[in-house]
Amino acid sequence: MTTKIDQTFLDEMVGILQDYIRIDTTNPPGNEEMAAKFLKEILETEGINVTIEAPSPHRANLIATLKGQGKGKPIILLNHMDVVPAEASQWSVPPFSGEIRDGYLYGRGALDMKGMGVLELMTILYLKRKGVILDHDLIFLAVADEETGGIMGTKWMLDRHPELFEVDGIFNEGGGGVFDQGKNWYEVSTSQKVLCQVQISTKGEGGHASVPKGSSAIAKLLSALEKIQNHTFSPILIPTVTEYYRRIAPLQKKEWQPIFQDMEDALRRGEPLLKEILADPLHHSMTHHTAAITVLRAGEKVNVIPTEAMARVDCRLIPGTDPDDFITTLKEIVNDPNVKIEGIFKGINVPPSPHNTPLFHAIERAVGLHDPGSIVAPHLVPGATDSRYFRAAGIPCYDFIPFRLPIEERMLIHGIDERVSLENLRFGVEVMIDIILNL
Ligand SMILES: [Zn+2]
Repeated sequence: MTTKIDQTFLDEMVGILQDYIRIDTTNPPGNEEMAAKFLKEILETEGINVTIEAPSPHRANLIATLKGQGKGKPIILLNHMDVVPAEASQWSVPPFSGEIRDGYLYGRGALDMKGMGVLELMTILYLKRKGVILDHDLIFLAVADEETGGIMGTKWMLDRHPELFEVDGIFNEGGGGVFDQGKNWYEVSTSQKVLCQVQISTKGEGGHASVPKGSSAIAKLLSALEKIQNHTFSPILIPTVTEYYRRIAPLQKKEWQPIFQDMEDALRRGEPLLKEILADPLHHSMTHHTAAITVLRAGEKVNVIPTEAMARVDCRLIPGTDPDDFITTLKEIVNDPNVKIEGIFKGINVPPSPHNTPLFHAIERAVGLHDPGSIVAPHLVPGATDSRYFRAAGIPCYDFIPFRLPIEERMLIHGIDERVSLENLRFGVEVMIDIILNL
């Protein structure tokens, strides 16, 4: 059976999302306490037990459980309450207004991820009101601090609640439906790249800018950065990614299809078209380590040569790569003992979640009900989500926001005028409910 919600339920959901967006949870500082209280009140009104735990003043994490028959281990619906900052002057509506214009609900968090949080919340309300008793408990876990690393949020909760590891799987943000040039498909992120952030620093002779001497700290730094920038990392194909390309092959132009069908073979053969395909930034990020220079610091005064210079580089590694090994590679690329390269944040290197589990199949079936004949593919997300903490414990995690977004709307995540269409809210909650009912 395919779930269809009525207009009253959609209106209620839209109202809740507007109110939720109006609670400013910009992180830093987060202030998720108000958001947690807001969610708690809604859940408790429905007779669902809720606990809020505060890692520090004004921060909060929330757990609510829809009780099942206890036949299987629980499933977690994970979402984060914090959002990234929004520069109000750049937006066409105030970013915390939740304003609706032309069928879109605007606001920071509409996509990332208060919108998805509300889909999960409404799924629980829907099941509770219909009197559905699932085999297993369904846990609604709303956390703080995802946008700055999850230390006060998911990590904090897992350190205190080992029972959260006793679950069959997690649904979380990440992939979603893609609309691109008349084609659509659904990406379910089963894996994410490994974060490795490094600092590169140099020292050199300083002095008055009128008499430059030898190699300055800045010159050494620029030379090191240029080597990194110009380095071409070899493609690395993990099974998740080759399966992704195999599944979306039918959507590609004719001459590309055989390459998408068997990307490993194309790589072995040195297929010239492969280079062209992987030059696209999104395909490139799924098949290569990347290194983006994001911070550059040196000098204060225009007539003084500084003695120190520093840069930070945000690297995202293909899963299976140890950050320490990658730092060694960077040192070899720079090949200069006067340049100091050190890791400032090394992420967790975790294996991908399998795509032959009941949870993955539940997504395939639910999407098939609402968009018959469509393609659902496992995916490697270039960014990071809190799923890494669960995947590290071997728990299958499926990062999937059931919205269908054209590329330009996807790019609004963390961007200006972030918004979600009311049509997507309807589609999303119907798919989310059916994912759970199809488990
Ligand atoms: Zn997010």
